Amino acid sequence: MLRFLTLEADWPEKRPVETRARDFYEVYADYAAAKAGEQASRCSQCCVPFCQVHCPLSNNIPDWLKLTAEGRLEEAYALSQATNNMPEICGRICPQDRLCERNCVIEQSGHGTVTIGAIEKFLTDTAWDEGWVKPLKPKRERPQHVAIVGAGPAGLACAEQLRLKGYKVTVFDRHDRAGGLLVYGIPNFKLEKDVVKRRVKRLTDGGIKFKLKCEIGRDVPFAQLRAGYDAVFVAAGAYKARDAGIPGVPALDYLIESNRGSRVLHANGKDVAVIGGGDTAMDCVRTAIRQGANSVTCLYRRDRDNMPGSLREVINAEEEGVVFEWLTLPKSLETDGVRISRQRLGLPDASGRRAPDAIAGADFTLKADMVIKALGFDPEPQWTELIAQDGVFAGGDLVRGASLVVWAIRDGRVGAEKIHKYIEAKTAAMQAAE
Ligand SMILES: Cc1cc2nc3c(=O)[nH]c(=O)nc-3n(C[C@H](O)[C@H](O)[C@H](O)COP(=O)(O)OP(=O)(O)OC[C@H]3O[C@@H](n4cnc5c(N)ncnc54)[C@H](O)[C@@H]3O)c2cc1C
Ligand code: SF4
Repeated sequence: MLRFLTLEADWPEKRPVETRARDFYEVYADYAAAKAGEQASRCSQCCVPFCQVHCPLSNNIPDWLKLTAEGRLEEAYALSQATNNMPEICGRICPQDRLCERNCVIEQSGHGTVTIGAIEKFLTDTAWDEGWVKPLKPKRERPQHVAIVGAGPAGLACAEQLRLKGYKVTVFDRHDRAGGLLVYGIPNFKLEKDVVKRRVKRLTDGGIKFKLKCEIGRDVPFAQLRAGYDAVFVAAGAYKARDAGIPGVPALDYLIESNRGSRVLHANGKDVAVIGGGDTAMDCVRTAIRQGANSVTCLYRRDRDNMPGSLREVINAEEEGVVFEWLTLPKSLETDGVRISRQRLGLPDASGRRAPDAIAGADFTLKADMVIKALGFDPEPQWTELIAQDGVFAGGDLVRGASLVVWAIRDGRVGAEKIHKYIEAKTAAMQAAE
């Protein structure tokens, strides 16, 4: 360990822009085992590991890095999966540059972070290849049955943790496939869908039932669901799109069509303008490039240093040919394109971030025949009362607002613990009353 003084941080190679910008396969190659071990050995095994402190799952990063450096990969994997239901997915799409890697002590001291995410992905992909990912087998069966609304990462993590304790679990989702935004939001070039599919298959093989194409509140009333199960976990996500006040395609509609492989809402041959500066906007611009757009411009009202999305994704997008127009606010859609107000950053607003302010006389028009609006999402309000009922628990984006996969997994795990305690307390009370 401690080799950060002599070894530089070295990420897995990205596929060349000329090929990756024309297909939807993942961008990053895998580490070879020797490289993963070498990179893991850069860790300084901090007494206070800030990587772990800043991981929403408190992943035991220093210990599994040490095991990886020693070539004890199966043990390293066992440790990493003990706190995370889908480490290979977090390894691929967590914004490590905002979480563990950003806070890594050797990054902070100017030596370049340990490449934690790439090592996590390598470990878990190796575990799948080597058969170390064990089937889901509860030690005992319990009679109680829990319903889960939403098959995104929060719902899936909750389902797995409850099944491990022996509960019967049924997951309901309105889509035809389980995975939530892992399948119908995040594009393939960040997360290939087979990676999600094998996780879902493990859950199905472990006895978890999935009722897909079933929307709670439309196909099954919520009251009926609650009455039929011992507890309910609601992880229905955040799907109420914020609006820009100008016409355009909502980002998720666009990404869902693309993830379905459909030609509806396709960017081929178009001049595309994407409004927004978060991860969703980055996924839209990079999807449009791959669909063969004539030009793709990202419009964001603050500057590069103040955008909410991961800088790593911005760099990927720039490499692939996306143009960023920082400090721009779309005002209207004209026949020849989007009318835009040029901004400058003024004093901090209530959120503490510097607020954009229009520069008089600096408006301009950007040629565009497809405008995609990626301004974020809020939870749908009808859930607020429903999730306040006895025996109903909730987590993920529905509770936090649009957030991250790693937080959704955490909420699913915490939700499972709460449900377990709730059912145990109810059972004990019933036994005492008999
Ligand atoms: C385009 C995009 C890119 C993103 N990229 C990243 C990234 O790179 N890294 C990262 O960490 N996070 C990313 N995120 C955020 C991340 O995907 C979410 O934070 C996470 O998926 C939330 O998990 P969840 O389980 O709470 O909800 P979701 O994943 O949204 O799952 C909710 C599920 O509930 C179902 N549902 C909703 N209502 C009902 C109902 N009434 N009945 C039945 N089913 C219902 C939905 O169909 C859906 O399948 C991205 C989000 C988007 C939109
Ligand atoms: S903060 Fe960085 S150096 Fe310290 S234990 Fe974590 S990965 Fe290793």
